[in-house]
Parts: sequence; structure tokens; C-alpha cells
Amino acid sequence: MSSVSVARALVPFPHRDVPLPGTHPIPLSSPDVSDDDRERVLAILNGTALSLGPALPAFEAAMAEAAGTRFAVAVNSGTSALHLCIKAAEIGEGDEVITTPFSFVASANCALYERAIPRFVDIDIDTYNIDPAQIGASIGRRTRAILPVHVFGRPCDMSAITDIAARHDLAVIEDSCEAIGATYDGRKIGSFGHSGSFAFYPNKQITTGEGGAVVTNDEHVARVCRSWRNQGRGEGAAWLQHERLGYNYRLSDINCALGLGQLSRLDLILQKRRAVARAYEQALEFVPEVITPAHDPGMSWFVYVVRLQDEFTREDRDRALESLRGEGIGCSNYFSPIHLQAYFREMFGYRRGDFPVTEHVADRTIALPFFNNLSHGQIDMVAAALARAIGKLARTF
Ligand SMILES: *Cc1c(COP(=O)(O)O)cnc(C)c1O
Repeated sequence: MSSVSVARALVPFPHRDVPLPGTHPIPLSSPDVSDDDRERVLAILNGTALSLGPALPAFEAAMAEAAGTRFAVAVNSGTSALHLCIKAAEIGEGDEVITTPFSFVASANCALYERAIPRFVDIDIDTYNIDPAQIGASIGRRTRAILPVHVFGRPCDMSAITDIAARHDLAVIEDSCEAIGATYDGRKIGSFGHSGSFAFYPNKQITTGEGGAVVTNDEHVARVCRSWRNQGRGEGAAWLQHERLGYNYRLSDINCALGLGQLSRLDLILQKRRAVARAYEQALEFVPEVITPAHDPGMSWFVYVVRLQDEFTREDRDRALESLRGEGIGCSNYFSPIHLQAYFREMFGYRRGDFPVTEHVADRTIALPFFNNLSHGQIDMVAAALARAIGKLARTF
């Protein structure tokens, strides 16, 4: 490294209009794999049981504890977990599932897999979660379930949601994929419904590379999910005895070993992420053009998403994202509303204006780099780059 680039790397606030692309690349997310995690994975590789071995039930037991449920069934993705939750609730053709359009697309796709219809309800402007006050109007004869998504790790209003579900005899299926370790009223997210789902892609709070889990207190649900995951085999049945139409949604012991290592550090990981969020909030006090996330002590921080004030447009936001990327700062427009995805528009005729709060929020969000070991220096750099990116917008008004 030349002395010039060393000097640049040490300047936390390069006061210059022309950014130095890639000088300080800061990724949007970064997995945190420890030496202990690596040893656990190697131990599996050095053994003979690479799948359906002892790491699977061990990971499931640890996962059930993390979710505060009796059972956990590990699967190969969060999407697979959601699919099995829908099937376990016996949701099928023409049934309706109430959920949010402000989410990752899997939370609505899981209904479509079973030819059920996602019925979207708009979100609360402060929490970005489904607005319970608007759920009632969407309940009809075919409604079977409410599928709340704990967006960005923020717990939904589970008291209101479980009340509505009980009154209308609906199942609650929690999409907790972004919320491991979150709590509502002191109770763990994932444990409120008929079933819940978790996900372990590398950008999540804990990772197994790829992976997911169904959690439930219902023994029958756990049993059928175990069977579906493994090609519809019955418990203890011979390898080629299939009781029902199943899938290969298995999670290998290699993944489970990594998950065990990660879960053993869950408290520490969540603590680190809380500290990063707090540091961002302080750094962003000097960027009044953005709205920082609302406080919730039960939150499990998945991502750090700020929102441009109302006077900014979607085009402004997109230009801010471009400026940040030009400075080597990873960022994203979490989320692009589900109802506006091409195939949803085509299948259901959705248009802009259908879910105004979701669209207002989605047009203005900026997900900033966020991971366990993000340093204070990096956080200051991101905040400075964000201020510069917004400053450029102001000049074009
Ligand atoms: C990550 C995620 C999922 C599942 O994702 P996979 O990539 O299938 O593991 C589902 N719903 C939400 C809201 C998510 O963020």
C-alpha cells in the first residue's frame, strides 16, 4: 500500500466532493463466523454423518429454546419453513392469508405455492409492520390465517393480532425470519402462533449459510413438517416408505453445526447489533433529513433502515443510493413492495396507490451497512457519506 492510500484510509471524513470509489468499501452486511464455528463445521466434515446426523436434533433443540417453543424443525431455507407453515395450517386453494406488502417476497409467495391468496393489509407508518387496525376490513369468508412479518426485527403488535385471530378463528403464522431473539411483552417472537418461521441466510442475525426452521408448540405440526422435509417419510419408517407427498427441504449437519455455533453466541450477537444501532442513532443526529428507526426494547436488530423525510421523492432516494455506492458504501432500498412486483401486478391487477403507506415508506428507505463488527469509525464514515449524498440532492431542488 502506498503512503498516499494509507493516509486516505485514515481520514474518517474526507471533505471532498469527488468520492474515492472503493477506498473504504463497507458492505451492507457481513457474516460473523468465529473460530469455534469453524471447528464445529470441521468436526462434522471429519466424521461420517454429513446429513441427518446428531447435529440436526442438537440444532433444533437450541433453536426451539431461542424461539421459546416446544419444537423446531430445521429446513434448508426460511422460504421452505414458511411453505411448511402454510401447509401445516391446512391452507389450500382459494383460501386467503392476511399479510403485509412491505416484506421480502417469500412471505407472500408461501401462500401462492399452495394456490392460496395473499390479502395485503397496509402498514403502520412508524413501525413498518402490518397495521392491526386495518386487518378487520380484510377478513372474509375465505380468510384462514394472519401472517404477520416482524419487519427488520421489530415485533408486531401480537396482542392485537392474536385477539383478532381468536375472534375470527384464524391461524397465526409468524414470519420471524428477521427477528430471532426479539420479544413482545417479554415473550419470544415465533412462539405466539400456530407456527413460526426463521431464516439463516448470511445477512441474517445468525447464519447457517442457507437454512431455516419451523417452530411450534404443536406436536402434530412438528411431526408433519419433519415428514414433509424428508420426502414425506414417516417417523422411523424405512428409507423408501413414503406416507405423503414430501419435499427435500433437509438441512445438512454441516449447516446445523454452524448454526449451533452461531446460536451459542446469540445473546452476544444481539447485544453487538444493539450497540451498532445506538451508535448509528448518535451519528445520524447530524443528518436531520433522515428519520431513524423508532425505539422498541424488544427489537432484534436485523438491518438498519433510515427513511428520507416526506419532502424527498423516490428519485431522490435512488440517487442517494447511487452516491453511497459510488463511495463504496453498501446500501439497499428495503423493501420493494410485494404488490408491485411484476407477477403480483399481473396476477392480481395491483397498481401504485393500492397500499399508500407501504409505498410512501418503500420510496424513501435506505438500508445502511449493518453487521456485528461494524466499527464506530465506519459508522461515522457512513453517516458522513449519507450527509454528502443528501447534500447533493438539496442542490438540485
Ligand atoms: C429472509 C427472509 C425470509 C426467508 O428467506 P430465505 O432466503 O428463504 O431463507 C422470509 N421472510 C422474510 C421477511 C425474510 O427477511
